[in-house]
Amino acid sequence: MRSPGAVLLVSCYELGHQPLGLAEPLAILRAAGYAPAAVDTAVEPLPDTAVVAARLVAISVPMHTALRLGVAVARRVRALNPAARVVCYGLYAALNARYLLREAADAVLGGEVEPALLALVRALEDGRWVTDSPDDPIPGVTTRAVVSPPALTRAPFAVPARDTLPPLDRYARLRRGDEALLAGYVEATRGCLHTCRHCPITPVYGGRFFAVPRAIVLDDIRQQVRAGARHITFGDPDFLNGPTHSLRITRALHAEFPDVTFDATIKVEHILEHRALFPELRDLGCAFIVSAVESLSDTVLSRLDKGHTRADVAVALDILRAAAIPLRPTLVAFTPWTTLDDYLDVLDFVAAHGLIDQVDPIQYAIRLLVPPGSALLDLPDAPAWRGALDDANFTYRWDHPDPRMDQLYHHVSAAVEAGRAAGADSSATFAAVRGLALSAAGRPVPTVPDTTETDRELVLAARRPVPHLTESWFC
Ligand code: SF4
Repeated sequence: MRSPGAVLLVSCYELGHQPLGLAEPLAILRAAGYAPAAVDTAVEPLPDTAVVAARLVAISVPMHTALRLGVAVARRVRALNPAARVVCYGLYAALNARYLLREAADAVLGGEVEPALLALVRALEDGRWVTDSPDDPIPGVTTRAVVSPPALTRAPFAVPARDTLPPLDRYARLRRGDEALLAGYVEATRGCLHTCRHCPITPVYGGRFFAVPRAIVLDDIRQQVRAGARHITFGDPDFLNGPTHSLRITRALHAEFPDVTFDATIKVEHILEHRALFPELRDLGCAFIVSAVESLSDTVLSRLDKGHTRADVAVALDILRAAAIPLRPTLVAFTPWTTLDDYLDVLDFVAAHGLIDQVDPIQYAIRLLVPPGSALLDLPDAPAWRGALDDANFTYRWDHPDPRMDQLYHHVSAAVEAGRAAGADSSATFAAVRGLALSAAGRPVPTVPDTTETDRELVLAARRPVPHLTESWFC
């Protein structure tokens, strides 16, 4: 197990950034004397030789898209190297353990996975596999013989190992005006203090989060700045779960690298609760904040247990505008409870608040996913809307009670995809989506004003460019 490449770590997709899901286990395994290989199939091919040489192949599946791609990789590994053990690890592995163990994997790791992965490698080195000893399970490792809940003990942290990963110029960049700057990615915390019902973190972490030691986060930032990063994404599920921790890190980041900017994800509730922090975060280099607005319907928000209301979203916008920090909202545009009027209301809100350039068009096409184990399944009315488990697509099916909404979802998805393929401006895609929603409601669709080329250039020049990452997909 200690020979180079005997352990093969594979990432398939991590939101367009260099995968932390590889860099963290690489560091932990190396520190224990192993020499894992790592491949990120999002930007490089997975060579057959690497698969054939491996005794254990561990595939990182932190999100839905990654899982879809990861299953295909697992099947390829099985075909090429039937003797290798296949492990899936990360948030979506834990949720979909039953399917993965049936179809693609020998073990599934959830929660704080590094100690479990290390224990598995050691077991294999000792010539045994965990299924050999169901009486002596490894915490966090689920196999066909042993079911173990996600490991929620604080993992030993190490500075993520990035030296063998593809360079940052292979990944998403920060677009700021005419510049496209290299971007790095760190996490200052894992898990989440909150338990929003639709969130895949809730069934795995159950309201717990873990702070990554400040020195490790800062060392990781340093190595990425040395590699050319001019911007850092804090990918914590919520950057203000531990505000003191986060503030100390951003202060240290700014003190050492005053020209490096950052972005973070912060929930509406925390924007209101910690409103006094935002002027300082701007001065420390905060380029924008992503926030899971999800919906503007208080009915939907209460189903999701989001902890904010429609009115709070407007307040959060005001707080960030006063601090000169752009908000980039994410949405769950289609849920079983979102009415056509709710959908149109979101579009009107986006236009009225000047957010068209701050909402990635894909957000208008996001449909609620209900993975196995989702807290949404505990809602008393779940039997009324929940369909069968489509385990090969990692979600329960649901149909909207208003068939116009399911039709609209398909039409909007096609329009957003067409806009993406054509490189359309976000306002053009917004207009197309709004037209579709108005048509679905039987309301007149405004015709595009007959503007001249000069008019269009003036309008574009008047719009403020909003910093954003060049990867818009997010789940
Ligand atoms: S605050 Fe965000 S990360 Fe935390 S449970 Fe809610 S949706 Fe998930």
